[in-house]
Amino acid sequence: VEGSLDPIHEGFRTSSVWIRAFEGVGERPGRGRGAMQPPIPDLVSPASLIEAGIRLGHETWSRQCSLLLTRDGADPSDILDPTTTGEILDFIARAGNSSLLLVPLGAGREALGYLCLGRSAGQPGWTDIERQAAARLGHDIGRAILHARLYEHEQAVVEALQALDGKKDAFVSMVSHELRTPLASIIGHLEVVRSGDLGDVPATADRSLAAIDRNATRLTSLIEDLLLLSKMKEGAEPMTIRVLDLAGVVEETVVGLELYAQRHQVEVGTRAEIPTWVRGEPYELERVVTNLITNAVKFSPAGSRVEVSLDVEDETVVLRVRDRGLGISASDQEQLFTRFFRSTNRQAQDIPGTGLGLAIVKIIMERHDGTVRLDSALGEGSTFTVRLPLFTGTAAELGVHEHLPSGVGRR
Ligand code: ADP
Repeated sequence: VEGSLDPIHEGFRTSSVWIRAFEGVGERPGRGRGAMQPPIPDLVSPASLIEAGIRLGHETWSRQCSLLLTRDGADPSDILDPTTTGEILDFIARAGNSSLLLVPLGAGREALGYLCLGRSAGQPGWTDIERQAAARLGHDIGRAILHARLYEHEQAVVEALQALDGKKDAFVSMVSHELRTPLASIIGHLEVVRSGDLGDVPATADRSLAAIDRNATRLTSLIEDLLLLSKMKEGAEPMTIRVLDLAGVVEETVVGLELYAQRHQVEVGTRAEIPTWVRGEPYELERVVTNLITNAVKFSPAGSRVEVSLDVEDETVVLRVRDRGLGISASDQEQLFTRFFRSTNRQAQDIPGTGLGLAIVKIIMERHDGTVRLDSALGEGSTFTVRLPLFTGTAAELGVHEHLPSGVGRR
C-alpha cells in the first residue's frame, strides 16, 4: 500500500497524500496501517482524526462517493460537522495543504481503508474528472488490499495447521513409545503361560490365549508402523543405504508370506529378472514389498492369484504387484496414500487394517528417489507399480560389496 503513494502523489499533483488500510473486518475494524507522502516525521496524526478518517472511509464507501474538504466546507455537506472539518483542515495545513479529497478504498461491500489527497492554496481545485479518477483508484487499491489480506489469512491458517500437525505427530510418536513397553510385557507373559512353565494350561483357555496373541501382534505392528512413519516424517535418514538385490528381497518376502497367503487361499506367483540391483535401505524396501503383497492378498477373493513381477526398463527397476481383487474406485485412489485412509467401499472396510501401509510405501519410495503408482478399477483388481533407479555402478565404486559381480546392473 505504501508503495502506491509515489505515483499517486505525482499523478494527482498533490502536496501530500495519506493512506490507511484498515485491519480486521466487520463491525469493529482496527485502525490498521497508515502512511504519508512526502513523510513529515514530526507530524503525527491525532487519534481523533484517525478515528474520523475510519468513520469517513466507511461512510463514503457505503455511499460510493468521495469527500472534499475546503475552507468553504465539506462536500457532501451532511457527512461531516463543521468542527471536525475545521480540525482536519488545521491539521493538514501543518503539512502545507489547504484542501483535502478523501476517497474510500474498498471491495464489494467492504470498506478497507481511505486515501486522502491534499493540495496547497496555490494549486488548482479538484475537478469532477479528478474526483472520479481518484474514486476508481480507491476500487483498484481496495482490491489489492483484499488480495493481500486473503493471502495473509491463508498464510496464517497454513502455519496454524502445520503447527497442529507437528503437535499431532509428536503426540502419536509419544503414545506409540509408551505403548511399546506394556505390550512387550503382555507378549512376554503370554509366551510364559503358553510354554507350560507355569503349569498346564486348560485346553479351554487355548482359544483365548491365541486371540490375545493375535491381537497383541496386530497392535505391535500398528505401533511399529506409527513409529516408522513418525521417524521418517521427522526427516531421519535411512539407516543403512547399500546396494541390494531387490529380486532377493521379493523372493524372501514371498516365502515369508506363504502362510499368510495360504490362510487367505490366494496363490502368489513371482517372476523376476535376477539379480536386480538397487541402492536402498533393506528394511524399508522389504516393508514396501511386504505391504503391497499383503494388501494384494487380503483384498483378493479366495481362490484368486496375485502376480508379482520385477523387470528392468530403461535403467529403472519396476516392481509390479497385481491382483484380481476388490479394486479401488477412482475417487478413493486420490487419497489412498494418505495416512489412515481406508477405502470407502464396504467390502474393503470389512477387512481389518490401519490405513498406514500405503502411506509408508509412499514415503519410503520418496526417500529412495522412486515412485509408486496405482492402476485400478472397482471390482476389477489393482496393480501397484513401484519404480526405483537401477544401480549401474560397479561394486568397487561402493567399496563395501566385494561379493557383487563387477558391472552389476548391466546384465
Ligand atoms: P490397510 O490395508 O491397513 O487398510 P493401506 O494403507 O495398506 O492400509 O491401504 C489403504 C486402503 O487402500 C485399504 O484399506 C484398502 O481399502 C485399499 N487397498 C490397498 N491395497 C489394495 C488392493 N490391492 N486392492 C484393493 N484395495 C486396496
